[in-house]
Amino acid sequence: MSENKVDLLIIGAGMAGCTAAAKAASGGLEVCLVDTADDVGGSARYAGYVWTMPDHDVMTEQNPGGDERLRRRLIDGFDDAVDWLRSIGADVGPEQPILSYGRGHRFDTNHFVDLCRKVVTGAGGQVLLGTETEKLIVDDGAVLGAVVRSASGTREIRATATLLATGGFQADPEQRARHLHPSARDIELRSNPNSLGGGHRLAGQAGAGFGKTGAGFYGHLIPSHITLTDADFVELALYYSEHALLFNLQNQRFTDESLADHLTTMELLEQPQARGLLIGDARVYRDWMTTAYVEGAVAPDKFASASKRGGRVGIAESLEELAYLPEEWGYDGAAIAAEIEAYNAAVAAGDAVPPRRLDPLPLDEPPYYVIETVPAVTFPFYGIRIDEDARVLDERGQPIPGLLAAGSDTGGVWYRAYGGGLATALVFALAAAATAETLSSS
Ligand SMILES: Cc1cc2nc3c(=O)[nH]c(=O)nc-3n(C[C@H](O)[C@H](O)[C@H](O)COP(=O)(O)OP(=O)(O)OC[C@H]3O[C@@H](n4cnc5c(N)ncnc54)[C@H](O)[C@@H]3O)c2cc1C
Repeated sequence: MSENKVDLLIIGAGMAGCTAAAKAASGGLEVCLVDTADDVGGSARYAGYVWTMPDHDVMTEQNPGGDERLRRRLIDGFDDAVDWLRSIGADVGPEQPILSYGRGHRFDTNHFVDLCRKVVTGAGGQVLLGTETEKLIVDDGAVLGAVVRSASGTREIRATATLLATGGFQADPEQRARHLHPSARDIELRSNPNSLGGGHRLAGQAGAGFGKTGAGFYGHLIPSHITLTDADFVELALYYSEHALLFNLQNQRFTDESLADHLTTMELLEQPQARGLLIGDARVYRDWMTTAYVEGAVAPDKFASASKRGGRVGIAESLEELAYLPEEWGYDGAAIAAEIEAYNAAVAAGDAVPPRRLDPLPLDEPPYYVIETVPAVTFPFYGIRIDEDARVLDERGQPIPGLLAAGSDTGGVWYRAYGGGLATALVFALAAAATAETLSSS
């Protein structure tokens, strides 16, 4: 077994790993970046906007269950992090609103991760692709590096600091069932396929704490009966669901759909068979199903895309026609039509239950566009506990010497709420690089 020694060993070369590697390497640290995949980038390659909440008040309002110290670090670190992106030559657009409550920037992630790789190799760092991490080297409670294996053999990489950045466990059905919901075993994956919980396994080996149970996940609604491919991740995500009504198999609404598609996605996972009927009218089709989700993004016709891919879709020329939904779908169309009528009367009176705080408009302009929908997962909110400096905490809340984590491997920032996966990875990866620098100089 060959051996070498670096300042910072990073396991996972997506948004968090690439960021930490580039920051540390350009600061003079010796870096080794390891990934099981044959390329750097992970899920970051699919993403297009780096954004989060604009301030602490909005963060508290939208994400009251998130860890206070991590939430503060994210908000306080965001603008400097974006400045850093620009400083290394990343392509970051001007500030713009994101969703109903966020702010951020268009961001070319593909250019960024390739740029990070160049920064690392240009500084003499190593990028080891197609490489598994067998185990951490742990001595007397401190992490001293890891044993990695590739086609060229197994070797020990000793490191002053080791950063876990493998992007979560969403690609593993068993862990989804255990940590998200039993129904999550069978849901579609909307992320890179390699985030199988490797970071969690390694962190557990070093005695890390995990949390929070019940935190949920980031994902979107997609049409049912479709196997997602990479090309579908954005095209088939039914972002417009905020403006439509969603009915479960009991023909009932069960959540305020208007708050956010990603929140409705978590709620649907917990409904019978984790599927529901999403119904919009001609207004919703015109104003939302065929328009961009975020300013500047592509705007495919969601109904046409779902239909082309063989999803369960239909157009009802009137509410009465909903009675002719295919029987095998399992819904009572007449009951749903009655619910829509009752909802229209309730919004006129201002007392819809569940309410629709952000879009209290009736669905009364035929035709009606029907898509059966299911949740798809992008990354979990349950993960490795860290502090503001990205140090991994043990079960008692004490830092584990030498071990850091960032990005979707970590938990605590988001609790049944979401304000940017890239920003979370970016800010805590920069914190990890700063911590590694301190450890290397001490
Ligand atoms: C379609 C899509 C669109 C998105 N859009 C946005 C957006 O616009 N804005 C936003 O903020 N967020 C967005 N996200 C989320 C964002 O991409 C993630 O939050 C972010 O990439 C997380 O960074 P990460 O480094 O934790 O994980 P990743 O970027 O996924 O990187 C994890 C890396 O770890 C590697 N890996 C996995 N297991 C191991 C192992 N055992 N050993 C070594 N390496 C391993 C993987 O191969 C991967 O390269 C989107 C995600 C998707 C899928």
